[in-house]
Amino acid sequence: MFTFEDKLKEYADLLVRVGVNVQKGQDLVITSQVDQAPFARLCVQAAYEAGARSVDMAWSDDAIARMTYLNADESVFDVIPEYRIRFNTDYAEGGACFLHLVSSDPENLKGVDPSRLERAHRAYGKYMRRYRELGMASAFPWSIGALASPAWAKRVFPDLEEREAVAALWEKIFMAVRVTGDGTAVEKWRQHQENLQRHVDILNGYAFDRLHYYNALGSDFTVGLCKGHIWCAGGEKTPKGQFFMPNMPTEEIFTAPDRNRCDGVICAALPLSKDGNVIRDIRFVVKAGKIVEATASANEELLRKSIAVDEGASRFGEVALVPYDSPISNSKTLFYNTLFDENAACHLAFGEAYPTTVEGALDMSEEERLSAGLNSSITHVDFMVGTADLSIDGYTADGRCVPVFRDGNFVF
Ligand code: ZN
Ligand code: ZN
Repeated sequence: MFTFEDKLKEYADLLVRVGVNVQKGQDLVITSQVDQAPFARLCVQAAYEAGARSVDMAWSDDAIARMTYLNADESVFDVIPEYRIRFNTDYAEGGACFLHLVSSDPENLKGVDPSRLERAHRAYGKYMRRYRELGMASAFPWSIGALASPAWAKRVFPDLEEREAVAALWEKIFMAVRVTGDGTAVEKWRQHQENLQRHVDILNGYAFDRLHYYNALGSDFTVGLCKGHIWCAGGEKTPKGQFFMPNMPTEEIFTAPDRNRCDGVICAALPLSKDGNVIRDIRFVVKAGKIVEATASANEELLRKSIAVDEGASRFGEVALVPYDSPISNSKTLFYNTLFDENAACHLAFGEAYPTTVEGALDMSEEERLSAGLNSSITHVDFMVGTADLSIDGYTADGRCVPVFRDGNFVF
């Protein structure tokens, strides 16, 4: 039997060695909440054992973030200080790894004026543009891993005592990232990558023109795929060939939708945690790629503002397939955290597309990308659409219809 400490250590090691895959002599930046310092220290230790040159920390705190959003002067939300921009871009341009440890309360910013959140979002998109572009293009290794915090755990398990809730959430996280404490997680991830690759190869072989989604929830939606789209899964490579795993866990196989060729009605299957608020029952009506109607049963205004931060925010940038029968989905737990919930269900994202998902797009200009159908935006928000009864048909360029999903799972 392995102890909780064994699992924590194996998980920290996994994030450092497989997540960002830090190399000898490389710098590492870790972002973390202050109350997760003990786990962050395990990551720092693992990074130095792997030969990291240096580890730099960027700390944050939910409570202070909330105070800031409620009290700070309005003007604060329109700019990001130069030193913060430099911190990220200098490290990113220098090829450092970024490890993001996330543990926030999904409703930390409940009640905050949505226009403050929108302004902060715009400022981030504008001032952090270079850093974001480098990240989306896999120019440096980055990875996101989640840590159980009392506030988050209580949202997931409201009926448990705080301590039990945290323990239960940790067990769910360990299960999702294949950590048992026996030291085999790195090998299990190698196997996982091979399994994902099988579906990637089949989908790339079809080179579908479009996918058609339908289920009893009311989705009846056609997603055109970009010409030359590439299905991707699991790990990515930097231009220098450094392999890294952007999301842990990851179960998705994803590519680029055509920003002008999406049509119909698409309904979210799970609530979406966004900017410290939970948006429920999202329903989009889409015409020629653009969301023309957006409704929700909770936080509809935040949803409307989210798709209005720029022109590309109301168009799609990612289409991702996740079998309904996957480890996270089978845990029947709603995490209120996109890292987990998006890996429990097929999803789409509105906003920026990954240039890595279209042949040659990394070398294209902004205009060339747009005319290839790749979406551009300062935002990228995944929302879950997969249900137990979801069907997806693929249509090839010559009009052949191929069943891709039936009853929420891959046909092949
Ligand atoms: Zn995704
Ligand atoms: Zn995404």
